[in-house]
Amino acid sequence: MSDATGIVVALQANYLEVELDSAPEGVPPRLLCTRRTRLSHRGEVVHVGDRVVVEAIDSVQGRAVVARVDARSSLLSRPPVANASTVVVALAVEQPGFDPDQASRFLLTAERTGLAVELLLTKADLVSRDHLEALQVRLQGWGYAPIAVSSRTDEGLDRVRQRLSASPLTVVCGPSGVGKSSLLNRLMPHLALRVGAVSGRLQRGRHTTRHVELFPLAEGCRVADTPGFNRPDLPDEPREFALLFPELRHQLDPWPCRFRDCLHRAEPGCGIRRDWERYDLYTTGLEELSKLSRSSRAG
Ligand code: GDP
Ligand code: ZN
Repeated sequence: MSDATGIVVALQANYLEVELDSAPEGVPPRLLCTRRTRLSHRGEVVHVGDRVVVEAIDSVQGRAVVARVDARSSLLSRPPVANASTVVVALAVEQPGFDPDQASRFLLTAERTGLAVELLLTKADLVSRDHLEALQVRLQGWGYAPIAVSSRTDEGLDRVRQRLSASPLTVVCGPSGVGKSSLLNRLMPHLALRVGAVSGRLQRGRHTTRHVELFPLAEGCRVADTPGFNRPDLPDEPREFALLFPELRHQLDPWPCRFRDCLHRAEPGCGIRRDWERYDLYTTGLEELSKLSRSSRAG
Protein backbone atom coordinates (compact mmCIF):
# COMPACT_ATOMS: atom_id res chain seq x y z
CA MET A 1 0.00 0.00 0.00
CA SER A 2 1.35 3.43 -0.92
CA ASP A 3 2.21 6.30 1.45
CA ALA A 4 -0.27 8.91 2.57
CA THR A 5 -0.14 12.29 4.27
CA GLY A 6 -2.10 13.44 7.27
CA ILE A 7 -2.13 15.31 10.55
CA VAL A 8 -1.53 13.99 14.08
CA VAL A 9 -4.81 14.60 15.92
CA ALA A 10 -4.08 12.81 19.19
CA LEU A 11 -1.37 11.02 21.13
CA GLN A 12 -2.09 8.04 23.30
CA ALA A 13 0.69 6.23 25.13
CA ASN A 14 3.08 5.10 22.39
CA TYR A 15 0.63 5.63 19.56
CA LEU A 16 -0.20 8.56 17.34
CA GLU A 17 -3.63 9.02 15.86
CA VAL A 18 -3.29 10.34 12.34
CA GLU A 19 -6.14 11.71 10.27
CA LEU A 20 -5.42 11.25 6.58
CA ASP A 21 -5.83 14.17 4.16
CA SER A 22 -7.62 11.83 1.80
CA ALA A 23 -7.90 8.18 2.64
CA PRO A 24 -7.18 5.80 -0.26
CA GLU A 25 -10.01 3.40 -1.17
CA GLY A 26 -10.68 0.98 1.68
CA VAL A 27 -8.48 2.78 4.22
CA PRO A 28 -10.11 4.22 7.35
CA PRO A 29 -9.73 8.03 7.67
CA ARG A 30 -8.00 7.72 11.05
CA LEU A 31 -5.04 5.44 11.62
CA LEU A 32 -3.35 4.35 14.82
CA CYS A 33 0.35 4.79 14.15
CA THR A 34 3.71 3.96 15.60
CA ARG A 35 6.86 5.86 14.74
CA ARG A 36 9.63 4.62 12.48
CA THR A 37 12.62 3.83 14.68
CA ARG A 38 14.96 6.06 12.76
CA LEU A 39 12.54 8.88 13.48
CA SER A 40 12.95 8.32 17.21
CA HIS A 41 16.69 7.88 16.92
CA ARG A 42 17.02 11.28 15.33
CA GLY A 43 15.31 12.59 18.44
CA GLU A 44 12.39 13.85 16.45
CA VAL A 45 9.46 14.24 18.76
CA VAL A 46 6.08 14.10 17.09
CA HIS A 47 3.40 16.47 18.39
CA VAL A 48 -0.30 16.86 17.96
CA GLY A 49 -0.74 19.15 14.96
CA ASP A 50 2.27 17.76 13.12
CA ARG A 51 1.88 17.04 9.43
CA VAL A 52 3.24 13.58 8.69
CA VAL A 53 3.79 11.00 6.00
CA VAL A 54 2.63 7.52 6.94
CA GLU A 55 3.61 4.25 5.32
CA ALA A 56 3.04 0.50 5.81
CA ILE A 57 -0.69 1.14 5.98
CA ASP A 58 -2.69 -1.82 7.28
CA SER A 59 -6.20 -0.94 6.16
CA VAL A 60 -7.82 -3.87 7.99
CA GLN A 61 -6.36 -3.02 11.39
CA GLY A 62 -6.34 0.70 10.71
CA ARG A 63 -2.63 0.86 11.52
CA ALA A 64 0.33 2.56 9.92
CA VAL A 65 3.80 3.88 10.64
CA VAL A 66 4.82 7.53 10.73
CA ALA A 67 7.84 7.80 8.46
CA ARG A 68 8.36 11.55 8.23
CA VAL A 69 7.41 14.77 10.02
CA ASP A 70 7.11 17.96 7.99
CA ALA A 71 8.77 21.19 9.08
CA ARG A 72 6.56 23.10 11.51
CA SER A 73 5.26 26.63 11.16
CA SER A 74 5.04 26.94 14.95
CA LEU A 75 5.43 24.92 18.12
CA LEU A 76 3.82 25.70 21.46
CA SER A 77 5.35 23.93 24.44
CA ARG A 78 2.52 24.09 26.98
CA PRO A 79 0.30 22.65 25.61
CA PRO A 80 2.55 20.85 23.11
CA VAL A 81 0.87 21.67 19.81
CA ALA A 82 2.57 22.03 16.42
CA ASN A 83 1.42 24.29 13.59
CA ALA A 84 -1.15 26.26 15.56
CA SER A 85 -2.11 29.43 13.72
CA THR A 86 -4.35 31.17 16.25
CA VAL A 87 -4.62 31.43 20.02
CA VAL A 88 -8.05 32.20 21.41
CA VAL A 89 -8.11 33.75 24.88
CA ALA A 90 -11.42 33.13 26.63
CA LEU A 91 -12.34 35.38 29.54
CA ALA A 92 -15.64 35.46 31.39
CA VAL A 93 -17.60 38.67 31.88
CA GLU A 94 -18.97 37.22 35.13
CA GLN A 95 -18.52 34.05 37.26
CA PRO A 96 -15.60 34.60 37.49
CA GLY A 97 -15.84 38.37 37.01
CA PHE A 98 -13.52 40.14 34.58
CA ASP A 99 -10.09 40.63 36.17
CA PRO A 100 -7.87 43.02 34.15
CA ASP A 101 -4.58 41.73 35.58
CA GLN A 102 -5.38 38.13 34.88
CA ALA A 103 -6.76 39.10 31.47
CA SER A 104 -3.50 40.84 30.56
CA ARG A 105 -1.49 37.91 31.80
CA PHE A 106 -3.31 35.55 29.47
CA LEU A 107 -3.23 37.98 26.57
CA LEU A 108 0.50 38.73 26.91
CA THR A 109 1.22 34.99 27.05
CA ALA A 110 -0.87 34.46 23.96
CA GLU A 111 0.92 37.31 22.18
CA ARG A 112 4.27 35.77 23.07
CA THR A 113 3.51 32.87 20.76
CA GLY A 114 3.66 35.27 17.81
CA LEU A 115 0.44 33.72 16.49
CA ALA A 116 -2.81 35.54 15.76
CA VAL A 117 -4.69 36.25 18.99
CA GLU A 118 -8.48 36.42 19.29
CA LEU A 119 -10.36 37.42 22.41
CA LEU A 120 -13.68 35.93 23.49
CA LEU A 121 -15.84 37.27 26.30
CA THR A 122 -17.77 34.30 27.62
CA LYS A 123 -20.99 34.04 29.66
CA ALA A 124 -22.34 37.17 27.96
CA ASP A 125 -25.82 36.11 29.17
CA LEU A 126 -24.83 36.99 32.75
CA VAL A 127 -24.49 40.77 32.33
CA SER A 128 -26.56 43.63 30.91
CA ARG A 129 -26.02 44.88 27.36
CA ASP A 130 -24.59 48.13 28.70
CA HIS A 131 -22.10 46.33 30.90
CA LEU A 132 -21.09 44.09 28.01
CA GLU A 133 -20.65 46.97 25.58
CA ALA A 134 -18.57 48.95 28.06
CA LEU A 135 -16.26 45.98 28.50
CA GLN A 136 -15.98 45.51 24.74
CA VAL A 137 -15.04 49.16 24.25
CA ARG A 138 -12.50 48.89 27.05
CA LEU A 139 -10.88 45.87 25.38
CA GLN A 140 -10.86 47.61 22.02
CA GLY A 141 -8.62 50.08 23.81
CA TRP A 142 -6.30 47.13 24.44
CA GLY A 143 -6.16 46.56 20.69
CA TYR A 144 -8.63 43.67 20.47
CA ALA A 145 -11.96 43.09 18.77
CA PRO A 146 -13.59 40.86 21.39
CA ILE A 147 -16.47 38.57 20.49
CA ALA A 148 -19.14 38.19 23.17
CA VAL A 149 -20.35 34.60 23.41
CA SER A 150 -22.73 32.57 25.49
CA SER A 151 -23.12 28.83 25.64
CA ARG A 152 -26.53 29.40 27.21
CA THR A 153 -28.03 31.53 24.44
CA ASP A 154 -25.60 30.59 21.63
CA GLU A 155 -24.88 34.29 21.13
CA GLY A 156 -21.74 34.88 19.11
CA LEU A 157 -21.14 31.28 18.04
CA ASP A 158 -21.48 32.09 14.34
CA ARG A 159 -19.08 35.01 14.69
CA VAL A 160 -16.56 32.73 16.40
CA ARG A 161 -16.87 30.17 13.60
CA GLN A 162 -16.43 32.92 11.05
CA ARG A 163 -13.44 34.48 12.82
CA LEU A 164 -11.70 31.10 13.07
CA SER A 165 -12.62 29.81 9.62
CA ALA A 166 -9.31 30.95 8.11
CA SER A 167 -7.26 29.39 10.92
CA PRO A 168 -6.24 25.79 10.24
CA LEU A 169 -5.45 25.15 13.90
CA THR A 170 -6.66 27.08 16.92
CA VAL A 171 -5.64 26.68 20.56
CA VAL A 172 -8.02 27.94 23.24
CA CYS A 173 -6.75 29.19 26.58
CA GLY A 174 -8.12 31.05 29.54
CA PRO A 175 -8.71 30.66 33.26
CA SER A 176 -10.55 27.54 34.36
CA GLY A 177 -14.28 27.91 34.81
CA VAL A 178 -14.77 30.58 32.13
CA GLY A 179 -16.71 28.12 29.97
CA LYS A 180 -14.16 26.86 27.45
CA SER A 181 -15.40 23.26 27.43
CA SER A 182 -19.02 24.39 27.25
CA LEU A 183 -18.19 26.62 24.31
CA LEU A 184 -16.31 23.90 22.43
CA ASN A 185 -19.27 21.61 22.97
CA ARG A 186 -21.66 24.23 21.56
CA LEU A 187 -19.37 24.91 18.60
CA MET A 188 -18.96 21.21 17.85
CA PRO A 189 -22.05 19.34 19.03
CA HIS A 190 -20.61 16.11 17.59
CA LEU A 191 -17.83 16.51 20.17
CA ALA A 192 -20.32 16.16 23.03
CA LEU A 193 -21.67 13.00 21.42
CA ARG A 194 -18.18 11.69 21.19
CA VAL A 195 -17.35 12.51 24.79
CA GLY A 196 -20.58 10.83 25.89
CA ALA A 197 -20.06 7.83 23.65
CA VAL A 198 -16.73 6.89 25.16
CA SER A 199 -18.12 7.13 28.67
CA GLY A 200 -16.01 9.96 29.92
CA ARG A 201 -12.63 8.81 28.63
CA LEU A 202 -11.82 12.27 27.31
CA GLN A 203 -13.06 13.95 30.46
CA ARG A 204 -10.80 11.83 32.60
CA GLY A 205 -7.91 12.25 30.22
CA ARG A 206 -8.25 15.99 30.34
CA HIS A 207 -7.87 16.09 34.09
CA THR A 208 -5.18 13.52 34.61
CA THR A 209 -2.80 13.53 31.68
CA ARG A 210 -3.06 16.99 30.08
CA HIS A 211 -3.94 15.13 26.97
CA VAL A 212 -4.36 17.14 23.76
CA GLU A 213 -6.69 16.26 20.96
CA LEU A 214 -7.68 18.08 17.78
CA PHE A 215 -11.32 18.42 16.79
CA PRO A 216 -12.80 19.59 13.51
CA LEU A 217 -14.59 22.94 13.67
CA ALA A 218 -15.10 23.03 9.91
CA GLU A 219 -13.42 21.76 6.76
CA GLY A 220 -9.68 22.39 7.14
CA CYS A 221 -10.21 24.09 10.49
CA ARG A 222 -9.39 22.39 13.78
CA VAL A 223 -9.45 23.30 17.45
CA ALA A 224 -7.17 21.84 20.12
CA ASP A 225 -9.10 20.61 23.12
CA THR A 226 -6.62 21.35 25.85
CA PRO A 227 -6.39 23.08 29.20
CA GLY A 228 -4.16 25.65 27.50
CA PHE A 229 -1.23 27.39 29.09
CA ASN A 230 -1.44 28.88 32.53
CA ARG A 231 1.34 30.91 33.95
CA PRO A 232 3.06 33.32 31.60
CA ASP A 233 6.81 33.74 31.45
CA LEU A 234 7.93 37.28 30.80
CA PRO A 235 10.04 37.75 27.69
CA ASP A 236 13.68 38.49 28.44
CA GLU A 237 14.13 41.17 25.83
CA PRO A 238 12.56 44.58 26.69
CA ARG A 239 12.07 45.55 23.04
CA GLU A 240 10.02 42.42 22.42
CA PHE A 241 7.81 43.37 25.34
CA ALA A 242 6.37 46.33 23.43
CA LEU A 243 5.23 44.00 20.66
CA LEU A 244 3.02 42.07 23.09
CA PHE A 245 0.71 45.07 23.42
CA PRO A 246 -1.40 45.38 20.29
CA GLU A 247 -2.48 48.92 21.26
CA LEU A 248 1.21 49.91 21.28
CA ARG A 249 1.94 47.96 18.10
CA HIS A 250 -0.87 49.84 16.37
CA GLN A 251 0.66 53.16 17.46
CA LEU A 252 4.02 52.12 16.04
CA ASP A 253 2.49 51.61 12.60
CA PRO A 254 2.99 54.13 11.07
CA TRP A 255 6.06 54.79 13.21
CA PRO A 256 5.62 57.90 15.43
CA CYS A 257 8.87 57.33 17.30
CA ARG A 258 12.19 58.60 15.99
CA PHE A 259 14.43 56.22 17.85
CA ARG A 260 15.41 52.76 16.83
CA ASP A 261 16.09 51.44 20.31
CA CYS A 262 13.38 53.36 22.12
CA LEU A 263 11.46 51.67 24.91
CA HIS A 264 8.66 54.26 24.55
CA ARG A 265 8.67 55.48 28.13
CA ALA A 266 8.16 59.19 27.67
CA GLU A 267 11.62 59.71 26.20
CA PRO A 268 11.75 63.18 24.61
CA GLY A 269 11.08 62.77 20.89
CA CYS A 270 9.12 59.55 21.33
CA GLY A 271 5.68 60.05 19.84
CA ILE A 272 3.97 57.20 21.68
CA ARG A 273 0.92 58.38 23.60
CA ARG A 274 0.62 57.71 27.29
CA ASP A 275 -3.13 57.87 27.54
CA TRP A 276 -3.89 54.18 27.18
CA GLU A 277 -5.17 51.99 29.97
CA ARG A 278 -2.32 49.50 30.04
CA TYR A 279 0.48 52.07 29.78
CA ASP A 280 1.33 51.62 33.48
CA LEU A 281 1.27 47.86 33.13
CA TYR A 282 3.64 48.23 30.20
CA THR A 283 6.11 50.45 32.03
CA THR A 284 6.12 48.40 35.25
CA GLY A 285 6.55 45.25 33.16
CA LEU A 286 9.55 46.87 31.46
CA GLU A 287 11.05 47.70 34.86
CA GLU A 288 10.66 44.09 35.97
CA LEU A 289 12.34 42.95 32.78
CA SER A 290 15.34 45.23 33.14
CA LYS A 291 15.73 44.20 36.80
CA LEU A 292 15.70 40.58 35.69
CA SER A 293 18.25 41.09 32.96
CA ARG A 294 20.48 43.10 35.34
CA SER A 295 20.39 40.37 37.99
CA SER A 296 21.03 37.62 35.44
CA ARG A 297 24.03 39.57 34.17
CA ALA A 298 25.28 40.06 37.72
CA GLY A 299 24.79 36.37 38.53
P1 GDP B 1 -13.92 25.64 31.57
O1 GDP B 1 -13.26 25.28 32.86
O2 GDP B 1 -13.38 26.93 31.03
O3 GDP B 1 -13.87 24.56 30.54
O4 GDP B 1 -15.47 25.94 31.91
P2 GDP B 1 -16.75 24.97 31.79
O5 GDP B 1 -17.18 24.87 30.37
O6 GDP B 1 -16.47 23.72 32.52
O7 GDP B 1 -17.85 25.84 32.56
C1 GDP B 1 -17.71 26.23 33.91
C2 GDP B 1 -19.07 26.58 34.47
O8 GDP B 1 -19.63 27.72 33.81
C3 GDP B 1 -20.10 25.48 34.32
O9 GDP B 1 -20.88 25.45 35.50
C4 GDP B 1 -20.94 25.91 33.15
O10 GDP B 1 -22.26 25.43 33.21
C5 GDP B 1 -20.91 27.41 33.27
N1 GDP B 1 -21.02 28.07 31.95
C6 GDP B 1 -20.31 27.77 30.85
N2 GDP B 1 -20.65 28.58 29.82
C7 GDP B 1 -21.60 29.41 30.28
C8 GDP B 1 -22.35 30.49 29.67
O11 GDP B 1 -22.22 30.82 28.50
N3 GDP B 1 -23.26 31.12 30.48
C9 GDP B 1 -23.44 30.78 31.79
N4 GDP B 1 -24.35 31.48 32.48
N5 GDP B 1 -22.75 29.78 32.38
C10 GDP B 1 -21.84 29.10 31.64
ZN1 ZN C 1 9.64 55.63 21.42
